[in-house]
Amino acid sequence: MYRGTNASAGIGIGKAVVIKEEEFIIRQDKAADTEAEVLRFHGALEKAGARTRALAAELAAKAGEAEAEILEGHLMLLADPVLTGEIEIAIQEEEVCCEYAVETVCTRYEAVFASMDDELMRQRAADMKDIRIRIQQVLRGISPVDMGSLPAGSIIVAKDLTPSMTAGINPAHVAGIVTELGGRTSHSAILARALEIPAVVAVPGIVDLVQDGTDMVVDGNEGAVLVNPPDAEKARYEEKRQRLLRQKKELESYIGRPAVTKDGVRVRLAANIGKPEDVEKVLLYDGEGVGLFRTEFLFMDRASMPGEEEQFQAYKKVASALKGKPVIIRTLDIGGDKEIPYMGIEKDENPFLGYRAIRLCLDRKEDIYRPQLRGLLRASAFGNIKIMLPMVTCMDEIQEAKALIEEVKKELDRENIPYNREIQVGIMVETAAASLMADVFAREVDFFSIGTNDLTQYTMAVDRGNDRVSYLYSPFNPAVLRSIRHIISCAREAGIKVGMCGEAASDPMMIPLLLAFGLNEFSMSPSAILGARRMITRSSVKELLAVADRVMGFTTAKEAEGYMREFIKCLV
Ligand code: PEP
Ligand code: MG
Repeated sequence: MYRGTNASAGIGIGKAVVIKEEEFIIRQDKAADTEAEVLRFHGALEKAGARTRALAAELAAKAGEAEAEILEGHLMLLADPVLTGEIEIAIQEEEVCCEYAVETVCTRYEAVFASMDDELMRQRAADMKDIRIRIQQVLRGISPVDMGSLPAGSIIVAKDLTPSMTAGINPAHVAGIVTELGGRTSHSAILARALEIPAVVAVPGIVDLVQDGTDMVVDGNEGAVLVNPPDAEKARYEEKRQRLLRQKKELESYIGRPAVTKDGVRVRLAANIGKPEDVEKVLLYDGEGVGLFRTEFLFMDRASMPGEEEQFQAYKKVASALKGKPVIIRTLDIGGDKEIPYMGIEKDENPFLGYRAIRLCLDRKEDIYRPQLRGLLRASAFGNIKIMLPMVTCMDEIQEAKALIEEVKKELDRENIPYNREIQVGIMVETAAASLMADVFAREVDFFSIGTNDLTQYTMAVDRGNDRVSYLYSPFNPAVLRSIRHIISCAREAGIKVGMCGEAASDPMMIPLLLAFGLNEFSMSPSAILGARRMITRSSVKELLAVADRVMGFTTAKEAEGYMREFIKCLV
């Protein structure tokens, strides 16, 4: 058995189709007529653009608009005047053929992107390679590998898959994907998930280990790959494959059903998103709204800040798509572990205790906060938007942010721009201070959302990203459980809604406790919604009250977690 990274869930059983890297031998030929060579280059660019547009349309139909955006990015690269200009200059000044100019300029960019720290920038290297190969194919009159006509039950084995190769795949015929390179966030992994093809990436040396037609099993859940497995082993995986398919079908039956417990307690199951395109998944998995839109993702992976208009369009897109269902948009939460290089923010000694989220926004009202609030308020005319403030620790922050919101409303009134006058303003309760002040804050805001990712960090004084102290990082610690219960009861006493958007909200061991504490809304990654709904419909709050009492009597996280692990066996 070979191990790799589980990139897309499910079991694939079939026969290997090995895709060899295309090797172009590029010679440094002299160009007899550099003008003609530049024209040839532009002709190739046009054809490569047409191929990319066709692939994008195919992909949009198969996997959705959001996934097709990867290829839209390629079109932007093909039209980038800096890149194409450099290639032209290389042809003219070095008097070389355009194949050579394309190869040298593009590979130089690939190397620069590949050496960057930022994961998303490293992805750009794969995009650059993809377009380089596409231009070279056009120049040589080579047709791309036809992924659309692979036989049924194919397991694709490749060094790496370019996004355009993945886009051409017919998901009905491809049982699995295995690559030597890539990670969970590489574009090919993202596309494999969108097409729901089991995939394992980063399996060293796999291309040389198999030949076309070799029997293979791909376990995308465990990140395992079997080559020529014995029949008994294959049968075992076939059983697992059938079981997973049955579970998936069963979960689909929860689409369109309300999240109500056996004893009639109704809760809301919402989704966490980071980009407007994510709403497709929210609708697919039947989310009852957005419980957390992490707006910082709009600011990442780019060279300058998105302005008011761009933000307005992004928020409007989500609000309109959700058609009146609540959309909680969190104002910018950068700092901590989320850095944005172009903002020129100095690195703190203790980033998680420093210049982050609401602190930074209130300090940079004019260039950061006001444009964001204007975009948010303008978008509120198109759906049920609520504003959420991150990392609140004291009353002054809430009041200052609310005052700025009121100022922006007056501005919009003067400009005759419509917005929702009754827009709700809530806070993330994710610091120890906010938890201790929950009764007071509950009288000042319209709703709470508990951010357990940070609440655990700030309650246990444990850096959420530090492996050496990760044994302390559990929401099952009695201190965190007490804090959660306290926050929920303060909200309920004040008559405001309380949700949770930290990872704990989708943890099957935590859901029964949260139901017992009286949580109103659970917000999670879209794909977790149906599982949570099944669990909730199988629960009874009356019965869970005793379970919660028992758990709150434990003095260690280990006991609480162990007890819940046993308890949920009857619910999942
Ligand atoms: C949290 O802290 O629980 C949360 C949802 O926010 P983030 O993970 O973005 O800090
Ligand atoms: Mg947080």
